[in-house]
Amino acid sequence: MKQSKSKVERNNVENLIRRMLKKHQTPFMLIRRDILERQFKRFMKALPNVTPYYAIKANSHSDIIKKFARLGTCFDVASIPEMKQVLDLGVSPTRIIYANTIKSESSIVASRRKRVRFMTFDNEPELYKIAKHFPRAQVLVRIKVENIGSLVELSLKFGADHDQAVYLLKKAKSLGLIPLGVSFHVGSQAKNVENYLQALEITSNIFDEAKEQDLNLKIVDIGGGFPIQHFDNEIGVNFERMAQTIRQQMKKLFDRKVEFIAEPGRFFAGPAGILVTQVVGRTFRNNKNYYYLNDGVYGDFSGMIFDHCRYEFKTLRRGQKFLSALAGPTCDSFDTLSTNEELPELYVGDVVYVKSIGAYSCASATNSFNGFAPAKIIMV
Ligand SMILES: *Cc1c(COP(=O)(O)O)cnc(C)c1O
Repeated sequence: MKQSKSKVERNNVENLIRRMLKKHQTPFMLIRRDILERQFKRFMKALPNVTPYYAIKANSHSDIIKKFARLGTCFDVASIPEMKQVLDLGVSPTRIIYANTIKSESSIVASRRKRVRFMTFDNEPELYKIAKHFPRAQVLVRIKVENIGSLVELSLKFGADHDQAVYLLKKAKSLGLIPLGVSFHVGSQAKNVENYLQALEITSNIFDEAKEQDLNLKIVDIGGGFPIQHFDNEIGVNFERMAQTIRQQMKKLFDRKVEFIAEPGRFFAGPAGILVTQVVGRTFRNNKNYYYLNDGVYGDFSGMIFDHCRYEFKTLRRGQKFLSALAGPTCDSFDTLSTNEELPELYVGDVVYVKSIGAYSCASATNSFNGFAPAKIIMV
């Protein structure tokens, strides 16, 4: 019998889960190394002119960082502990960008000591701090850009106004810093390619304006945001097509000497993660089946809060589906995952799993609220 590709994929995933259930207690998060590699290769194929800096906040598990380090990516860190983690794994400081526009003075000192010279900023007071503690640091000005249609807004808190960019870069130069270019972030899970196109257009205007004022900029950092499919039948996510449009825009607007970098987080780590939970209790209330899982919003489903993410809950059972609710294990009613899932009848001990949950999940889980520890991470 000929099986569809998605059916084969589902069987493979479920066989993997069954194998792992024999060895490990739930909840656990499987991280598939082959998928990490696949995502890296997809990125490099679709955007061969762009150097990726993996944004480790998406998932900072050391084996993930090691895997990407071996594949040759660079890294985006936002704090000194993140920087230290990457450096301790043997990554050269020249492969790191300190992409937090607001850094404490002690962090800038630490960055200098660790020789991580490349960083972003978006305001003048920050430049004075950097100049004081890290002369000749290499800086990119982060600008505010549209985040229309993105799952997570990343320009509400950060980003200089466009008309300030050249002024700030010249200021950086006058303070003894090395102004290299412009960075932006169109928002996470950015399905709307227009955001990138518009941001590139604004950036190219800034490059032109800088040139007129004798400032030669070299680097464009297009940030992260590259979307992934959280649902099997999700429409509107086509990374390859999006990348092609982005490349055309780069070619149209920029000199061939300009270098591009990016900071993918979700796209690199998300698809590799499979979260496996079990039903620890069930009841019938509000006219539906209520299933209580051993992981919830305080744990690996924290992305439902912080990442505004929704997930596709799957089970190993087939058959007729009923209106069901899923809740986490803590005593908080807020720890409810869904009140309108169509699921087959489940029993205590049954598995509920979620694919493509490798990013912004364990990364933002609490340590052990109510005594429930987050899922164990298992590299496969
Ligand atoms: C979070 C973040 C990223 C990663 O974004 P994704 O949408 O996960 O690709 C990259 N750069 C900066 C500055 C960020 O804050």
